[in-house]
Formats: sequence, structure tokens, C-alpha cells
Amino acid sequence: MADTILEVKNLTKYFKTKRGMLHAVDDISFKLERGKTLGLVGESGCGKSTTGRTILRLIEPTSGEIIFEGKDINKLNKRELRHARKDMQLIFQDPYSSLDPRKTVSQLISEPIVTNKILKTKAEVEERVAELMATVGLAPRLFNSYPHELDGGRRQRIGIARALAMEPKFIICDEPVSALDVSIQAQILNLLKELQAELGLSFIFITHDLSVVNHFSDEIAVMYLGKIVEKAPSEELFANPMHPYTKALLSAIPIPELGAQKERILIKGEISSPIEPGNECRFYKRCNYACDRCRELPALEEVSPNHFVACHRLNEI
Ligand code: SF4
Repeated sequence: MADTILEVKNLTKYFKTKRGMLHAVDDISFKLERGKTLGLVGESGCGKSTTGRTILRLIEPTSGEIIFEGKDINKLNKRELRHARKDMQLIFQDPYSSLDPRKTVSQLISEPIVTNKILKTKAEVEERVAELMATVGLAPRLFNSYPHELDGGRRQRIGIARALAMEPKFIICDEPVSALDVSIQAQILNLLKELQAELGLSFIFITHDLSVVNHFSDEIAVMYLGKIVEKAPSEELFANPMHPYTKALLSAIPIPELGAQKERILIKGEISSPIEPGNECRFYKRCNYACDRCRELPALEEVSPNHFVACHRLNEI
């Protein structure tokens, strides 16, 4: 039987602006099974990072439930939340800006251990830091180095070590490789994959780049303007994309085999405003298939086992 570590139910996050409510995350639901990866994919501004931060309650949700290991994160008091956060960590996109440049590698990695009083003596902390550095592939000679002396890949390894310091069960990886060179991206993705197998971690992997999550995610949810528009097991989504937006995203991924390049679907038109977006399909203004019916928001429906799509015209396109 599936072992669900996280269930998000009808999660909504609105921000007040001068022009009205900005619907950053608008009634989304999904489950994450233990030891698995859910890829959350979409363009900048689609709400994927807000979703991640709201799950960790770094941002307070407007409404909805976030059930982690059977407990609703929204209902926890400060002390309970601090305790739960040990199990839920975040890896940032830009390791450089998330690391204090005045601290050494060992100080950066030991920080969460010391702050949360996980270990008592200096020797214990140093031993744990050395262990974490080995786990993420940082050489012992870098113990006293500063972030500016390291390349992007090594800096991201520090970010991963910091996340692992609390022995979490679940990590949100927010664009963890998008600031890195392609060759280093593969190393970090492999490291995350190995850590998942070794430690049984569950991941939400946030990215704007579908090609990055192709071999990494068990399931993928595609977001557009605060809504999940398609969700399916990874292989199924790549083999059989159904939503016009997913199709366009996939068409932009180059295929390495010679002659196998498919036709690129360009997304034209102006992006709808996330402020008081009304009840039309969020993709309406950019969709090649938009019709009058699309002035009503389509529901996310299961069209084949575990494959969910929100589009009125699936049978016609
Ligand atoms: Fe396009 Fe209409 Fe489907 Fe929205 S509901 S994706 S506008 S065809």
C-alpha cells in the first residue's frame, strides 16, 4: 500500500496588492509518497516556489491543508512547527546568496546542528560536519574554506549538507541546479538521487526546466498561474502530454538523437494577470485551442489512471 508522507489539500496562497488579490497558489492538491520525488514544473511566476515555501510554512497559507506524516502543518503551534521543520528542509536555487560569506564551510554546515542543539561538544559537532562533508562529496581540505573560494557545485553541496544536518525525511529542492553549469548540474542531480536511495528521502523538486526532472521525478505536476494544469507519472507525462501548455514545454526540449527533433510549439500571446484572475482558464490568452467554453475554469480531472489534466478540449486537440 502507498505510504504517503505529504498530502496537500486545496492549498491557496493569495497576496494582497493595490490592484487586488494576487492568486499565487490557487486551490492545488497533490500527494507525495515516501521515498519518491514529485517534480513541480512551470515558468517563473507560476507559483511553484510559493507552493514550496507555503508547505514549509515559511509563508503562511491563505487556506488549505498540509498534512505531513499525518499532522496538519497549519495547525501546529510555534514549538510544534520548529520540531516538524527538522524533518522538512529546503535547498535553495542560488547557494551563494543563501550562504553567509563570512562563515567557513564547517561553520556553515554546523550552524543548524548548533542552533538546534543537536550535538553538545565541539568534537561531536566537528565529527558530524566531517561526516556530512563526506556524504555530499566535499573534500576534508575544504573544512576551513569560504564560499567565495569554491565553485557553484561545491557551494550547492554545502547547501545540501546543511539540509541533511537535521536528518530530514523530506526536502524541497527549489531550482537546485539552475544556477549551475550543465556538467555540474548532472553531478548534483546524481548526488541527490544517491542520497534519496541511501537515506529514503522524499523530494519536491521545483524547476522551470522539464528536461531536468525527466529522469529525476517519479511524478510531475505542471503549474500555470497558480494552478496545476497536468499531473502524471513522469514517464507517462513525457510519453503522452495532454495539456496544451505541457505540450509546448515538452516541445522545447532538444532530443539528442539525430533527426528526432520535434516541431517546437511556440507559446504566444500575453500572459493573464494573476491578480483577480477571474474564472476563465488560466492559459486562455496564450492557448492555440481557446474557445468560448474556456471562459470557464476547467477542473483537474483524471483522464487515465493517475493522469490528471485541466482542459475542456482534450478530446479535440
Ligand atoms: Fe486551452 Fe481551453 Fe484547454 Fe484552457 S481549457 S488549455 S484555453 S483549450
